[in-house]
Amino acid sequence: MADNPQFVWVDGKLVAWNDATIHITLLGTSSVSSVFEGIRAYWNSETHQLFVFHLDAHLVRFAQSIRLMRMKQIFSRAQLRDAVIELLRANQYAQDVYIRPFAFIESGMFGSAPDAAARIVISPSFMPTRLKSGKMAHACISSWSRISDNVMPPRVKASSNYLNSRYASEEARRNGYDIALILNPNGKVAEAPGACLMFVRDGKIITPTVTSGILESITRATLIQLCREVLQVEVIEREVDRTELYVAQEAFLCGTGAEITPIASVDRFTLGDGNIGPLTAQVENLYHNLVRGIDPRYAEWRTQVSPT
Ligand code: PMP
Repeated sequence: MADNPQFVWVDGKLVAWNDATIHITLLGTSSVSSVFEGIRAYWNSETHQLFVFHLDAHLVRFAQSIRLMRMKQIFSRAQLRDAVIELLRANQYAQDVYIRPFAFIESGMFGSAPDAAARIVISPSFMPTRLKSGKMAHACISSWSRISDNVMPPRVKASSNYLNSRYASEEARRNGYDIALILNPNGKVAEAPGACLMFVRDGKIITPTVTSGILESITRATLIQLCREVLQVEVIEREVDRTELYVAQEAFLCGTGAEITPIASVDRFTLGDGNIGPLTAQVENLYHNLVRGIDPRYAEWRTQVSPT
């Protein structure tokens, strides 16, 4: 396909797209025992620079997922950081990119050997931003429950966790919604299938805690910091009831892929006047300018992929 990258990074080296294959018998088992990350790099068309956003934070979480899955990590964080940069340079990207590091155990059998070495593949793909597109999403509360820490920990970014996400997303779309919001087994709001949730009540931002059955989202942590330090808005992390969402003035999803996705309604209860709320717009604007390096603050969050 024309959109495929020229190279992917496999176990320490750049491999041409067509040569990066795996045997068919490893398909199911390898993907069951796998964890991954989703990272974005943003192109600044004014300065012609590509910035990877929060590369280190994603690699820290990647290592944590590998460790919790009891896989052995062969590559250091520094090696993986260099790998991502090398890969982006080799593919000569001058556009927004999504980078997916993927760690799996090569095994023909379910239940692989403990401490098996993780094979690592890093693949980039073209992914345009949705920031400031003006698009809003209609959300529903899913009839499915979120996986929980003693069953399949949402804190681990395991591929298998996304089966729970798929059930919720498919149901939501078939019922005419854009996204699902999933409650944890205690009936409190957890997160969306692939993003965290924030909402606004009386000028304050509220978001479910990291023990609510969520992935410890890097975007969530980033926005909490930005809201407090830059926007001077109070952010409260606490348990959240579903009906609080019905009476919220604004709500949005946050995540690397979802970026800032404004929510228009929850279970057809319109939030505010149904348009993007003022605080959501402020957050979106700030995030947009920071990820691209238009706003020079928080430079430590951006890794510049300088040309070779
Ligand atoms: N929750 C889930 C289930 C996700 O898949 C994601 C996307 N990685 C997020 C939250 C947001 O996490 P982050 O901000 O680190 O991308």
